[in-house]
Amino acid sequence: MKNNYLELYMHIPFCEKKCNYCDFLSFSSNEQTIESYTKKIIEEIKYKKFLSKDYEIASIYIGGGTPSSIPSLYITNILKTIYENYNIKNNCEISIELNPHSSIYEKLKDYYEIGINRISFGVQSTNSDELNLLGRLHTYNDFLKCYDDAIHIGFKNINADIMYGIPNQTSNSLKNTLKDIMKLKLKHISIYNLIVEEKTPFYDLYKKNKLQLPCEDEIIKCDDIINDLTNYYNYIKYEISNFAKAGFICIHNYGYWSDIPYIGFGLGAASYFNNMRYKNITDINSYLLKEYNKYETCEDIDKYYDEIKILSREDAMSEFFFLGMRKTSGINAQQFFEKFNVNFENIFEIPLKKYLNLSLIKKENDNYFFSERGMQISNKILSEFIL
Ligand code: SF4
Repeated sequence: MKNNYLELYMHIPFCEKKCNYCDFLSFSSNEQTIESYTKKIIEEIKYKKFLSKDYEIASIYIGGGTPSSIPSLYITNILKTIYENYNIKNNCEISIELNPHSSIYEKLKDYYEIGINRISFGVQSTNSDELNLLGRLHTYNDFLKCYDDAIHIGFKNINADIMYGIPNQTSNSLKNTLKDIMKLKLKHISIYNLIVEEKTPFYDLYKKNKLQLPCEDEIIKCDDIINDLTNYYNYIKYEISNFAKAGFICIHNYGYWSDIPYIGFGLGAASYFNNMRYKNITDINSYLLKEYNKYETCEDIDKYYDEIKILSREDAMSEFFFLGMRKTSGINAQQFFEKFNVNFENIFEIPLKKYLNLSLIKKENDNYFFSERGMQISNKILSEFIL
């Protein structure tokens, strides 16, 4: 085995209110459902431990939804169950997502005590008009207060999610947001371009021509501002949307792009192991009816998933390429050979030559990666590498 690391993901689908752009599996709920859900996810964690018997857990990620919207005792119980049932690597990265809209000092203290060592704030913008438009419940000052609390408690590894391409947003406004955030010296920033997804309030407005999205030129300006400011403030771009100070690359996200297997727990959670992709059921009532604890030793896992995809050799090679190329370091041809026993250069010969000649893909030693311009149009390029 190349390595024996595994990542764990827990999905907490609850949010106080749905944001106007959000198509994630998230919703508001009542206390009873939240409590039942926590019990169910704990059953699932115990049931699936047999999957991890050859592995050490390199990272644990509690995402959502808004994990910080549920009582911290539930998060504590979930993590205790993991610690008791899985083989946790030293220095395991343990992350949780939070929204900064209310005072969460006590929750942060509980997270710190139970071993969470990385927190990720959904900030999106420091401009109040943009936050209102997005339907966020917090203000920039709420975030500053939570950030101070987190630092005071002892968290060192803190991320902020930032969004651009927000309706009515100018590149200047994005610049202000990025400066506000970068002055705080966070260790990690994720910067995403807003995509208007179907079945969201934004999509309805968009269809009615009532959503004023920034034009393409403005988005290109935003891309340039992001590159300039992240450079200026010494952030390393290691993936299309992710920037970190030295030593603070997110292990969990990096694993997704580096062919590390993972197990997801909870509603709609995805898993990847043994060359298969799995997805949990997405209906909360059906999920709550699952009987994981009836089959403590059962290895007939297939019936617990909503979707199962066995990756063909071609699928696996394409995925290795698509996911790996999201990283600025790209993919390593030797690793490709070790996994598939064929030369990467032969498999993708025609598009690879084309984009190397155009300098949109570059090669250094055994690594192939996008140039800056190639990264900007990566979706178009990748479509030519489908096997
Ligand atoms: S807080 Fe996050 S998950 Fe919840 S509705 Fe807003 S964007 Fe979606």
